Amino acid sequence: MEVSRHWRLQKQRYQLVGETCDNCGVKLFPPRDVCLECEAPAYELFTFAGTGEVYSFTTVYDAPAGFEGMAPYMMAMVKLDEGPIVTAQLTDVWPGDVEIGTRVEMVTRKLRTDGDEGMIVYGYKFRPMLEAIA
Ligand code: ZN
Repeated sequence: MEVSRHWRLQKQRYQLVGETCDNCGVKLFPPRDVCLECEAPAYELFTFAGTGEVYSFTTVYDAPAGFEGMAPYMMAMVKLDEGPIVTAQLTDVWPGDVEIGTRVEMVTRKLRTDGDEGMIVYGYKFRPMLEAIA
């Protein structure tokens, strides 16, 4: 992987950095260098605020390899305030705290531990905004 691409993926993973289309202004996540709306080049980096609302969600009981220790956990599609929808794990949450439309914010958390060496991979998750929990 070329170095610049690697760094862009790092930023994407930790900070929700996407792109803005120069032509129509649509916000893109993840970065893809081409606008989904008008197909113009989109290289302008854009850092999302990390806030949005739950678009849909589910609870995962049978976790894939590497995530077994976290099950059960909740996954959500989050519609960011700027438009794109991202899929991420919900954290700091109990079933019943979340419904469609719950306001959430991004936090950086441990995602998983890789292999016997125990390399810890961090990334973004979402949690309900404090005022969203009654
Ligand atoms: Zn565009």
